[in-house]
Amino acid sequence: MQTSFGTGQANRDSDLAFTDPLTGLGNHRRFFDKIDRLISDRADDPAPFTVVILDLDGFKPINDLFGHRAGDDILIQVAMRLRASMDGYSTVCRIGADEFAVLYPMVFSEEAASERSRMLIEILSAPYDVGERTARLSASVGCSLFYSGDETTEILVNKAETALYHAKRSGRGRVVVYTREMEEAAKRVTRIEQALRRAVSAGEVEPHFQPIVDLGTRRTIGFETLARWTDRDLGAVPPTVFIPIAEERGIIGPLSQLVLRKAAEAARSWPKDLFLSFNLSPSQLVDQNTGLHILAILDRTGFDPRRLEIEITETGLMNDPASAEKIVEDLRRVGIRVSLDDFGTGQSSLGRLREFNFDKLKIDRTFVSSILDDRPSEHIIRAILAMCEGLGMDVVAEGIEQEAQADRLIQFGCAGGQGFLFGRPADADATLGYLRDSFRGALRAKAI
Ligand code: C2E
Ligand code: MG
Ligand code: MG
Repeated sequence: MQTSFGTGQANRDSDLAFTDPLTGLGNHRRFFDKIDRLISDRADDPAPFTVVILDLDGFKPINDLFGHRAGDDILIQVAMRLRASMDGYSTVCRIGADEFAVLYPMVFSEEAASERSRMLIEILSAPYDVGERTARLSASVGCSLFYSGDETTEILVNKAETALYHAKRSGRGRVVVYTREMEEAAKRVTRIEQALRRAVSAGEVEPHFQPIVDLGTRRTIGFETLARWTDRDLGAVPPTVFIPIAEERGIIGPLSQLVLRKAAEAARSWPKDLFLSFNLSPSQLVDQNTGLHILAILDRTGFDPRRLEIEITETGLMNDPASAEKIVEDLRRVGIRVSLDDFGTGQSSLGRLREFNFDKLKIDRTFVSSILDDRPSEHIIRAILAMCEGLGMDVVAEGIEQEAQADRLIQFGCAGGQGFLFGRPADADATLGYLRDSFRGALRAKAI
């Protein structure tokens, strides 16, 4: 009696150690254990198998919006749907807060792995009941296939995690199967991250400035700050590469503060009527310290907040609109102006233009570059201009490269412009030189 009781207890304990208490699915230990066993089963059998890791997209906002109990409820529903979709061979486990994993012993090819994964996403995308309301979720999936006995459970899971990371980066609801190139890309990202951390603490990221002009008079009215970084080994790394890495790896805050401080110091010696524009990343709009940091830098450099504009994108507003709104309101209170950048490329919502009080809207380069030969672009630009006029917002068209584009924009009534036609981004010294030249030009014009 005693012994059998003891064994039962031990079994129950070990069951508990392998079970996720919320959903009743196996946990990460069970998942690793299952793969370990399958690898040893397949020692003499060349058939591949598939590991899938699935991460819910947008679970955190749902948790915040509906509360943790509702969040738990949704996780239970997710687990039930996944379990119901398994065949007799497959196992699903919950390996993280909103991360699930599936082992498919009988899925032998990348095509089949993608197909199964897409099916999982579809199953999860049907609405969830949350009390009286319903919520929708999507999921991203990374897969890896076992091909040879050299691979361990850790390697397979890491590969699926790398694939998942790529899936998440490319948008919601995607499936990515691991490839060797991904590993190379992941290593490169890590190298850039390490070099960037060092550069930021050594103060080696520099602001460059691109003029923004009054299209009618061609007079420079301000400059956009664009971060530039040249590493000893990696060479010049473009911001389209290092800014997303800085965001993902949590370096964007210190990087941004460094660039803003240097930019504000440089802009102090410009004519007082020129504004300085500065980009904020989406992740900075969910961090309530952003506003404080900006104000502290303006205070320390003695730069007038009324001369500063911040540029934010629609993506930046989507993640956590309430947090973004609070940061934006704090900044506007001290006179900082707010522009909506890259308008027309994100998941535009006109409603958002009503909710947020933007001072300015920047029309994305993609519309400007096709304005001369594409009727839809022309109509879209005209509609944006009419809307901005109605809403009392200033407008700047980005990416103007040709005189004919500038002429067309003036004809449509666009007041502000930016682009290589008027000037490329240049460092602080060159910008000062440019301003001295334009200032002298203006003086000469007056003398005539
Ligand atoms: P953005 O804010 O939309 O900046 C405009 C981009 O268009 C800049 O690219 C600029 O060099 C480029 N551009 C300007 N005129 C023309 C033109 O006539 N033709 C073409 N082809 N391109 C033009 P850049 O400097 O590579 O920056 C890319 C993006 O990186 C920026 O897009 C911005 O989103 C981000 N970024 C740059 N610096 C910072 C920064 O300090 N902080 C943050 N958060 N993001 C930054
Ligand atoms: Mg910008
Ligand atoms: Mg832009």
